[in-house]
Amino acid sequence: MYYFPCRVFFAEEALTRATPYLIGYGRKALIVTGKQSAIVSGALGDVTAILKAHNIAWHIFDSVIENPTIDTVLDGATEFAIHDCDFLIGIGGGSPIDAAKAISLTAANKLDKTNMYDTSLFSHSFPVVAIPTTSGTGTEVTPYSVLTDPETQKKAGFGSELAYPTLSIIEPRYTLSMSHAVTLNTGIDALSHLLEGIYSNKRNPLLYPNIFSGIKTIYKNLPIVLNEPGNLIARAEMMRASLYGGMTIANTSTTLQHSIGYPLTSVYGIPHGLANGVVMKGIMELYYPAVEAELKDLFHEMKISQHKFFEWIEALQLSIDIHLTPDFMDTRIPEVLSSRNMSNNPFEISSEDIKKIYLDL
Ligand code: NAP
Ligand code: FE
Repeated sequence: MYYFPCRVFFAEEALTRATPYLIGYGRKALIVTGKQSAIVSGALGDVTAILKAHNIAWHIFDSVIENPTIDTVLDGATEFAIHDCDFLIGIGGGSPIDAAKAISLTAANKLDKTNMYDTSLFSHSFPVVAIPTTSGTGTEVTPYSVLTDPETQKKAGFGSELAYPTLSIIEPRYTLSMSHAVTLNTGIDALSHLLEGIYSNKRNPLLYPNIFSGIKTIYKNLPIVLNEPGNLIARAEMMRASLYGGMTIANTSTTLQHSIGYPLTSVYGIPHGLANGVVMKGIMELYYPAVEAELKDLFHEMKISQHKFFEWIEALQLSIDIHLTPDFMDTRIPEVLSSRNMSNNPFEISSEDIKKIYLDL
């Protein structure tokens, strides 16, 4: 089974081709974004010019920080209501787009802090248009939103079919302004999603052509975009791989590969993709016996050995300089074990498995 209820315009003239849809969702948009990404990427100027030309009003909510909080979502839902909006446009990396999805659901279902993750209360949502400016999360085509509770420092996601963006406009040129670090970290996030399509117990051979193609694309193009940030062809290839990653996890969900990284982000501020990257080798070694045939197929397709794959990851120098305290281990390992995506692992994971990967960092 493969389900994908998302209208996607990718690359060449995507915004122009998507315009007839973009202008059809309502009278006033809440544009959800961060402080810089929408402006420096050029996406905000392009989108507002189209809205203006078609007499559609907008209000800009640009308070979304990296790893959006549930408080920011509540503020956004209040702005949505005060400004009488009827659809949303999320512009930015995963953070603003995830926030736009959660704002839509919170505003539509009158949710609050205590029940924002209670998908049984979701009966409808407002249309969300997603315009990514990073190539990594794939959130422009997934039913997930990942939020942080600042009080508990807990980062967790929810999934609902009502959270799928209605329209995704994927313009690789919007990623040209990404820094070296954001380019690297988001590329690794896309790689994680594609690998998780192999690891997940919901793995689906229908997805393998895109998974293998996406991983090969990253192997070839990530070094290019890191060395030549202005290379639009390689940027478009990274965007395609990220899209395939999103289409993958939309169906297979993520696994321990993601949940083990969430506390590294929420407690130590490690960027999401980097948190995935530093545990990538440990996770692949842990899962290997369960998905050996699939990984062998992957390395055969890539025309490299697993050893070479690890060498490549190592050469990317994804290092972090943190000291995990005993308190972190005591509180966060149970949190990881109870996270939503743990039901998707290829076998039962123990607290010892998690501890070993953390201790290897
Ligand atoms: P991000 O947190 O959205 O952005 C990281 C940084 O990059 C911000 O400072 C942002 O600036 C900047 N930036 C973004 N695009 C830029 C551009 N084109 N030019 C210059 N700067 C740019 O990064 P992300 O890695 O894309 O998203 C991470 C979030 O997505 C995490 O919370 C993660 O958990 C979530 N995620 C969600 C899914 C899903 O399916 N829902 C999947 C994976 C990850 P601004 O502050 O100005 O925006
Ligand atoms: Fe991710």
